[in-house]
Amino acid sequence: MAGTNLITTEQLRLWDKRHVWHPFTQMQEWERDTQIIIVKGEGCWLIDTDGKRYLDGVASMWTNVHGHCRRELNDALKEQVDRLEHSTLLGLASEQSIILAARLAEITPPGLDRFFYSDNGSTAMEVAVKMAYQYQVHLGRPERSRFITFKNAYHGDTLGAVSVGGIEIYHTTFKPLMFETLQAPAPYCYRCELGCSRDSCNMKCLDSLETLIERNAGQVAGLVIEPLLQGAGGMIVQPAGFLKRVRELCDRYDLLMIADEVATGFGRTGEMFACNHESVVPDIMAISKGIAAGYLPLAATVTVDKVYSAFLGEYAELKTFFHGHTFTGNPLACAVALKSLDLFQQDNLLEELQPKIARLKQGLADFASMSHVGDIRQCGLAAGIELVEDRDAGTPYPWEQKIGIRVCQEARKRGVFSRPLGNTIVIFPPLVVSDSELDMLLRVLQESIRVVTE
Ligand SMILES: *Cc1c(COP(=O)(O)O)cnc(C)c1O
Repeated sequence: MAGTNLITTEQLRLWDKRHVWHPFTQMQEWERDTQIIIVKGEGCWLIDTDGKRYLDGVASMWTNVHGHCRRELNDALKEQVDRLEHSTLLGLASEQSIILAARLAEITPPGLDRFFYSDNGSTAMEVAVKMAYQYQVHLGRPERSRFITFKNAYHGDTLGAVSVGGIEIYHTTFKPLMFETLQAPAPYCYRCELGCSRDSCNMKCLDSLETLIERNAGQVAGLVIEPLLQGAGGMIVQPAGFLKRVRELCDRYDLLMIADEVATGFGRTGEMFACNHESVVPDIMAISKGIAAGYLPLAATVTVDKVYSAFLGEYAELKTFFHGHTFTGNPLACAVALKSLDLFQQDNLLEELQPKIARLKQGLADFASMSHVGDIRQCGLAAGIELVEDRDAGTPYPWEQKIGIRVCQEARKRGVFSRPLGNTIVIFPPLVVSDSELDMLLRVLQESIRVVTE
């Protein structure tokens, strides 16, 4: 198979259909359609086998930060690969993983200083859940085995992560394999479960949460939350102050607060971490997607000394955290993650982001008058536009109509790649997106929505 560039696009398409099972994809449809094959990346653009360019509107599944093939990151990776490609953290320490943990400890919320590495968001959350439970065991409270979760939450696709999630269409099939959780209402104000309206509700959903906690506190290990933004649930943005009040409830009832910053971490919300907006320090925090700038799989579950120290003891006490992954702390991924942190500083990325967030807000306002736009939600440089069949009644499009998918197919024809969440159109570009790229992204999505819905 020498010289892969001699393989024709047709051949690649054939092999893809014959051998690659794509995630979250109905393969019967996939095999029927002609698929785009990406071979190159440049800044915010993906380039296919025919040389056609697509603006990467979802930052390659919410991971990309500084653009594709950014020279400094490429160089850091090349330099590291000539020094050490991988060495295990099971029984050995390795340079890059140490430096990265120390650097991250400086920017994570205060006190979150202990880093347990893994490779993806789901494993970071599995680790968080197991860590929280074993912590309770070490405190002599093994009966505290349950978790408080939120409706519409998404924490990944492994069984523990699915168990603490709350998206029915993804999760129902696996119900018999999952553990039960205590599910609180999501602050999904456009479709409030409690029938409230955001202007006047005073966050009544928090009362439901408190009641749930009050009734069960003695059996609960922790509460799991996506701070500020429920991403995969449909870009659902929490009211200001919600997160802080959740932290207060966790304190009052002595629950560990587990913050899933897998999607929100590394600048997406306009701060390095979403928790920073409300000066919240979770007890356990999961980070992944943006950590290595979209280059390589890397994740960490970060915790405070209170949790870490509960695991200390003599070998025979069996207080060890019995969990680990083969590629934990991979040096290549860590080297890129370190260079990415440099670029945050060098490019003044968080400051540069603020006018872009404002520009996105302004651009989104143009969607408000469209006849099938029900709700527009934004959190930093992430947004969701929820399309509805009937705007006055808020009637959703039946999911079988694949409205979101059809809009994205139209966008593709116009040079934008996006991936919807049901009927919600997603905007989640790399953080380095330029003004003109952002404008194009919005213009194309607006046109595509119009073509499909009007
Ligand atoms: C993507 C995501 C995950 C899962 O991450 P994977 O790397 O896909 O396993 C977990 N939590 C949140 C909030 C996410 O957005």
